[in-house]
Amino acid sequence: MPPEKRKLKKVLDDLDTIETQLLKRKNVNLFLDFDGTLVPIAQSPDNVTVPHEVYSILEKLRGYDHVFVAIITGRSFDNIKKIINLRGIHYAGNHGLEISGVKRTEIVPNASQVVRSIRKISDDLNKVLLTVPGAWVENKSLTASVHYRTVPTSHIPELNRLVGEIASRYIDRGLIKLKRGIKVIEIHPKIEWHRGKAIRWMQKNIAHKRATNIYIGDDETDEDAFKALNSAITVRVARDARVKTEAHYYVNNPIEVRFFLQWLLDKVATL
Ligand SMILES: [Mg+2]
Repeated sequence: MPPEKRKLKKVLDDLDTIETQLLKRKNVNLFLDFDGTLVPIAQSPDNVTVPHEVYSILEKLRGYDHVFVAIITGRSFDNIKKIINLRGIHYAGNHGLEISGVKRTEIVPNASQVVRSIRKISDDLNKVLLTVPGAWVENKSLTASVHYRTVPTSHIPELNRLVGEIASRYIDRGLIKLKRGIKVIEIHPKIEWHRGKAIRWMQKNIAHKRATNIYIGDDETDEDAFKALNSAITVRVARDARVKTEAHYYVNNPIEVRFFLQWLLDKVATL
């Protein structure tokens, strides 16, 4: 028998329940995805600026000792750190392959081999994707992203074919795996590590032990975190409640994420 379909609730409609949860434990661990969650998805990852209101909320949240804040993103660690530029916030780049204060070799076995493979596949893809207008490859050292936000729809089958062809050589050798995101194909090293494991690692090592855990994300890669945080307040940013997700709640867009964070900020001040 198929499992009973859960009705996904809008987080802003269930704040009383969430407040009750917050009151049970003083500490809060807040895990936030970045693109599509704190900021709208931009045509190019370089074109983002963090809205002043979001920045101000993060700045205030990090000031509370009982609130742990981590940004987890597909961007590289250096890139996200530079964009947010706030001390007292923890960063997990490359979908958790790089975490604040952790040597990459502790997470990624053979990190230097991975960096070499990712460089090689990025170069190969850059060459073949010259025929696909708008496609480009971002080498983020431990992972790479094939961006196709500005690729005309008619060219997408060709893009998929070319990426599949090049990637299969690396997949066959057990070096990489592909993951699909929103208008992006992610190339990850073939190791058992994802956002869910990164969150678990942070919970065990740097976050608060007894705490209300909250995770907000908008993408397939966030689903690993929703699964790992089964009893937490998990929120998927999605157009509507029909989205297929492991999260317990949804919001429509980064503006509603901001409303929720503003509400959370007011609440944690009273905990
Ligand atoms: Mg995202």
